[in-house]
Amino acid sequence: MSPTENVTVLDLFKECDALLQGHFKLTSGKHSEWYFEKIRLIENPAALDRIVDLLVNRIRSEKKVFDYVISPAYGAIAIGFLAALKLRKRFAFTQRVEEKMAFRPGWSCLEAGTRAVIVEDILTTGGSIQEVVECLKQKGVALAGIYVLVDRTAGAVLIDGRPVGSLLALKVEAFDPDDCPLCRAGVPLVKPGASDKK
Ligand SMILES: [Zn+2]
Repeated sequence: MSPTENVTVLDLFKECDALLQGHFKLTSGKHSEWYFEKIRLIENPAALDRIVDLLVNRIRSEKKVFDYVISPAYGAIAIGFLAALKLRKRFAFTQRVEEKMAFRPGWSCLEAGTRAVIVEDILTTGGSIQEVVECLKQKGVALAGIYVLVDRTAGAVLIDGRPVGSLLALKVEAFDPDDCPLCRAGVPLVKPGASDKK
C-alpha cells in the first residue's frame, strides 16, 4: 500500500466520522486510541462512494477475472454493491439464515464455474469472511480475491490460505486500563456509542 493511498483513506474515514481517534473504552473493557464506527459509512453515501472508488482501483490493479462481487449482510452490502456497480459486475450477498451464513435462493447466475471476489467492510478476525468462502465453495463458485476497507490485523490473517487486500491496514492496540498510555497522558476516556452523554 502506498503512503498516499493510506492517507487518503484515513482522511475519508475521518471525514465521515467512521474512524475516530482519541481514547475509547471498548466493550471488552480495554482502552484504545482508535475506534471504528462503521455505520457512519452507510450514513454517508458520498464519502462511501469515494472510498469505494479507491477499493475498485485496488481490485482493478490486480487484473482478476471474476463475475460477481459478494458481501456478507448487512453492513457490507452497500460497499459491495457500489463496487460491483463501478466494476460492472453482478452483486450478491450472504446473510444469516437461522444463525448460519448462506445465500438465499434466487441469485440467478451464481452457479458452479462462475468466479467471485468477496468485499467486506472491516477484517477483525476473518470469521464472517471465512463463512462466505464456505458458501461459495458449496455453490462451486471460484474465489478470485478477498478485499476489505480496513484490515485490523494489519495483514496477519490469511483466509483460505490467501492474503486479504485492504485499503487500510491498521493494527489497533488495546490497552489494559491499568497500563494505558492514554490514561497516563490524561486524555479523556470516551465510551463509543454513548453519544447520549449521561
Ligand atoms: Zn486508557
